Amino acid sequence: MSSDPVNNSTTAPQPDPLNSLEFDLSALRRKYREERDRRLREDGENQFIHTTGEFSRFKDFDPYAKRMPRDRLTIETEILILGGGFAGLSVAGRLIEAGFHDIRLVDNAGDFGGTWYWNRYPGAQCDIDAYCYLPLLEETGYMPREKYSFAPEIQAHARRIAGHYGLYEKAIFHTSVTAMNWDEDHLVWNVTTDRGDDVRARCIVCGSGPGTTPKLPGIPGIDAFQGHSFHTSRWDFDYTGGDNQGNLFKLADKRVAVIGTGASAIQIVPHVGRHAKHLYVFQRTPSALNPRGNVPTDPDWAGSLAPGWQRTRQRNFNDVVAGLPFDVDLVNDGWTDMFRTLQNSLLAGNAAVVGQTPEQLALLSEIVDARKQNTVRDRIDAIVKDPQTAEALKPWYRTFCKRPCFNDEYLPTFNRPNVTLVDTSGRPGIERITSGGITANGVEYPVDCIIFATGFEFSSDYRHRMPFAVNGRGGRSLFDLWANGRRTLHGHSTHGVPNWFFIGNSQVGLSVNYTSMLDDQARLIGYILTQMRERGARVVEATADGEANWVAEIRDKAAGASLFLEECTPGYFNNEGQVKNARATLTGDSYAPGVNAFNALVSAWIEHGNCEGLAFK
Ligand code: NDP
Repeated sequence: MSSDPVNNSTTAPQPDPLNSLEFDLSALRRKYREERDRRLREDGENQFIHTTGEFSRFKDFDPYAKRMPRDRLTIETEILILGGGFAGLSVAGRLIEAGFHDIRLVDNAGDFGGTWYWNRYPGAQCDIDAYCYLPLLEETGYMPREKYSFAPEIQAHARRIAGHYGLYEKAIFHTSVTAMNWDEDHLVWNVTTDRGDDVRARCIVCGSGPGTTPKLPGIPGIDAFQGHSFHTSRWDFDYTGGDNQGNLFKLADKRVAVIGTGASAIQIVPHVGRHAKHLYVFQRTPSALNPRGNVPTDPDWAGSLAPGWQRTRQRNFNDVVAGLPFDVDLVNDGWTDMFRTLQNSLLAGNAAVVGQTPEQLALLSEIVDARKQNTVRDRIDAIVKDPQTAEALKPWYRTFCKRPCFNDEYLPTFNRPNVTLVDTSGRPGIERITSGGITANGVEYPVDCIIFATGFEFSSDYRHRMPFAVNGRGGRSLFDLWANGRRTLHGHSTHGVPNWFFIGNSQVGLSVNYTSMLDDQARLIGYILTQMRERGARVVEATADGEANWVAEIRDKAAGASLFLEECTPGYFNNEGQVKNARATLTGDSYAPGVNAFNALVSAWIEHGNCEGLAFK
């Protein structure tokens, strides 16, 4: 036994975990670092092409509904909500429940659904437990058909929520907001749109997530390609045939390239591989594939659920993935198993960790993670027959460096004779797009069609993530106020930008189950607007101190995340490898203790009753 003179505790000698390892941790560390370094690039986030100007043809159209001409609108409303996805729907629903009815929603899509409106590609499916993910299930009386919903069921549920709360009559579709200007004299927002509308709104809630704004790879020659091309989030079913379930019969005589191997590509590749004459999958960094195992909803189980079950389940899921104590893992799937394995091994009370130093705990965490990723790599060897292809499909980074994926069909697709993995080993990556194909590793691959599975504006400059102007008090741009990183109170309000609320993934407690997190924020905004009403205020705004304190809290708690992210291979989780860049990273800009801790903090803030950090006038 040794005693710690600082905290007067006694610690038992711990066996050195390195002595009993079945793999070479030093070699693995070296491999992770080499793979990361090969992918690091000076231009980071700037490597991507935004879908503006000549590239707006990849975004500014609606393949699913005709954009009809209409007259200009002149509207006065109490609350304008940007976005008809699950953020906007949750805010609208919670506000209506709180007694606010003078609401309008605006979206550039042709219907509700947000990211699920646009992402209808073959195989599009949510890999989060549907009983947690689909919001407002009890309110709308709906039970998902299976544990992991496909896109059509998710879109239909978005429409169900809209119908339930009477939101269709409040919606303005196929309309993009271009600018919001705060009018200090009249204490309203003047909003302009691409339809020439004139909207005056007392308050604005911005729920337009970045998952609807695609980005393209900065590959030389991308504008020279003479064949067909589109981004996954604007799937061209006229060209491919079929629908979300596949059956892409028009690809039978086509050579198709998919660029990108993230969560979208993982779901698409099995369908394209099944139907294309030949499929080339251009990979820069492999995703980590875990088993899926979808099952239909058990009607007996569904019938046994007591009122309040969805919130209980969502909280339980968040507890498990945040490494908080829980009695039973209600969701019990690949996500929760992953977090249980990686985090709960470090929970206080676990005999293996009692008395360990932070350094020993970090090492233990690294070992558990390496074992987890070893199973991911071993699974590839077991499924993919060609050893060279199997080797190229292996991810060499820690589990949460990139978004884990769950799919049972992706890996077997590489056993098909008509499917080729073109691995570019990180750098130099694809060399060039030519008029008739793609050149990589010195070889030109002629193709008829390129599908860009290259993601969204998740971590780019805010002006790209939020493609509209927001000018607050004194005409100051919100994006200038955020020039050195986002500044908010509790993620929703910024000093100098009155009556303007944000709902999303920044400076809040993050959840893997994004929609329950949005619903929690929707309730908070409902509370603040109710306070505004009860206090007879016309303006509510974050105070300078309230904002500064919250930003400091976020930065302080995120320090550990930044260290972790620096070791990671580049991606949108770590600002494409530029963690020290002034603009905060996705995970580095969240409230590190997680969504349930954030909600507890917000509950205590509400309980306190004085709305500290907000000024009402
Ligand atoms: P991602 O940003 O995750 O992936 C983009 C892909 O494009 C990466 O593989 C990236 O490689 C690759 N890429 C970028 N530039 C190049 C280039 N120049 N050459 C070759 N490859 C390139 O986008 P996704 O659309 O796949 O997913 C976005 C997010 O959407 C997910 O992370 C997830 O949050 C969400 N989603 C959720 C689903 C769900 O089930 N709930 C399903 C689908 C998506 P590299 O890694 O090397 O940068």
